Amino acid sequence: MKTINLETYTSIKIGPTLYVEVIEKPLHVEAFLLGGGNNLLISPNPPKMAMLGKVFDFLHVEEDILHIGGATPSGKILSFAKKHNLKNFELMQKLPGTLGGMVKMNAGLKEWEIFNHLVAIKTENGWFEKKDIEFGYRRTDIEGTIYEATFKIQYGFDISLLEIFKKMRDNQPKLPSAGSCFKNPVGNFAGKFLDEAGLKGFKIGDMAFCETHANFLVNLGNGTFEDAIELIDLAKKRVFEKNGIDLELEIKIVNQKT
Ligand SMILES: Cc1cc2nc3c(=O)[nH]c(=O)nc-3n(C[C@H](O)[C@H](O)[C@H](O)COP(=O)(O)OP(=O)(O)OC[C@H]3O[C@@H](n4cnc5c(N)ncnc54)[C@H](O)[C@@H]3O)c2cc1C
Repeated sequence: MKTINLETYTSIKIGPTLYVEVIEKPLHVEAFLLGGGNNLLISPNPPKMAMLGKVFDFLHVEEDILHIGGATPSGKILSFAKKHNLKNFELMQKLPGTLGGMVKMNAGLKEWEIFNHLVAIKTENGWFEKKDIEFGYRRTDIEGTIYEATFKIQYGFDISLLEIFKKMRDNQPKLPSAGSCFKNPVGNFAGKFLDEAGLKGFKIGDMAFCETHANFLVNLGNGTFEDAIELIDLAKKRVFEKNGIDLELEIKIVNQKT
């Protein structure tokens, strides 16, 4: 067990301090799996939580396959790829997360997604090839814990892509957030609907839809879970009333029922 203060651990800086079970070997976990905490809004009354131990923070090459542990942070993967001239990992430039969280969420930016070059994942139920997994824009049907994933090695790390990702991410707010709050509806932008609904820069307590990027729900200092939920509910209601669109959350709300 490890004590984690979620208010400092999570990127949105909200959550209580609690005991988290540290998983040291592949087994079935009866708790919510905490990765790097970059996509989560956690209630003051969360379910039991677990996280992967250091033993799952690794990268190693076997023949033409790269094995990456579920707890390996994106920055470490990017450095490894750069050092060994491996392509397809450039999207991890300033994409906060662990391998497990990125695979579970099929994280990415525009057409670059983690699943594009994934070969297989290992959970407590064994290995699953990409063709056995259902995935799409920021979603997968993966059940269980991702302990490891494999990628086919291809050479040619593309430095010019880093510049592109950096530019795209420079537009993202620097204030604490959990990334994009809502998924973009097909062929459109959630931020545009929020803006049109008068919610860009709109605040409740210390939580706000960002002035510069309406789809980022940001913490201005002492934001709370309750303020965040109130804003999310308000946004869904206003956009539905105005545009008939049911915005789908990209961030994950974690409470007793999760
Ligand atoms: C400033 C900022 C910018 C961002 N930009 C982007 C972006 O451009 N594109 C994008 O896609 N996302 C973006 N995000 C969101 C975030 O980076 C991704 O969702 C990332 O994949 C989260 O990884 P994590 O390890 O922090 O997962 P967490 O937030 O801890 O968890 C996310 C989900 O993954 C599950 N999970 C975590 N680890 C495992 C595991 N080992 N096995 C099974 N399930 C697991 C959790 O249970 C949870 O359901 C951004 C976030 C921030 C704060």
